[in-house]
Amino acid sequence: EPLIRFEGTAKTYPDGTVAVGDLDLDVREHELLTLVGPSGSGKSTLLRMVNRLVEPTAGRVLVDGRDVATQDPVLLRRGIGYVIQDIGLFPHRTVAQNVATVPGLLGWDRRRTQDRVAELLRLVGLDPTVHGPRYPHELSGGQRQRVGVARALAANPRVMLMDEPFGAVDPEGRRALQEEFSRIHDELGTTVLFVTHDIDEAVLLGDRVAVFSQGGRLEQVDSPIRVLTR
Ligand code: ADP
Ligand code: ADP
Repeated sequence: EPLIRFEGTAKTYPDGTVAVGDLDLDVREHELLTLVGPSGSGKSTLLRMVNRLVEPTAGRVLVDGRDVATQDPVLLRRGIGYVIQDIGLFPHRTVAQNVATVPGLLGWDRRRTQDRVAELLRLVGLDPTVHGPRYPHELSGGQRQRVGVARALAANPRVMLMDEPFGAVDPEGRRALQEEFSRIHDELGTTVLFVTHDIDEAVLLGDRVAVFSQGGRLEQVDSPIRVLTR
């Protein structure tokens, strides 16, 4: 039983653009599946159908056997972390307050939140004492993305949707983030859909790699080594 299933899923935007064709794809629990393909091949649209930011025009998306279209978007999104390129941290809140947003919403007490925030910051390679009190603009781009990852992980999501999360980070910082994220995934076993246009990143991070082409067509989904040698 896959954790995420695309079943004849398609999205045509109102202007007639076919973003995602007729897609059948299963994502196993704990798997890190990378989605790679040129710009415009429907990768973001695909991700956004999982957390209902986009509704499919045909077919369905199942999470844990349930059609997402039948679920309350707010509850659905509580179980799904979402990380995008420009993470959109709250600029007037400290790093710790940004990460605390989710536990805060869940009504945790101060002490428990503080412990959780510190744990999350350490998990993504930041120091709670040093980085916790800073404001987003006082961090590097790579550090901001780490905070975004920490914030997305705060609710212990079963699924993480990551859309070019390291796309705006310089090559060196990017490599460090990839290694860190790989380690985090091994440790937590969260099911991850990870979008990138960088085949090296897709192959490095993915347990499997799904290759898309224009029109949101799935060309191949296979182990990194098979994708490389095809
Ligand atoms: P990718 O993430 O692979 O770059 P997208 O899912 O962003 O692909 O886009 C797939 C196609 O759908 C592109 O042709 C894009 O221009 C189009 N598209 C994306 N969002 C919209 C929208 N809101 N309205 C119309 N067309 C869109
Ligand atoms: P507020 O006034 O909104 O409560 P605080 O900065 O005092 O803002 O705290 C926001 C949340 O972040 C609190 O739950 C607090 O426990 C946590 N927090 C604040 N600073 C840190 C830090 N350096 N490390 C870990 N957690 C922190």
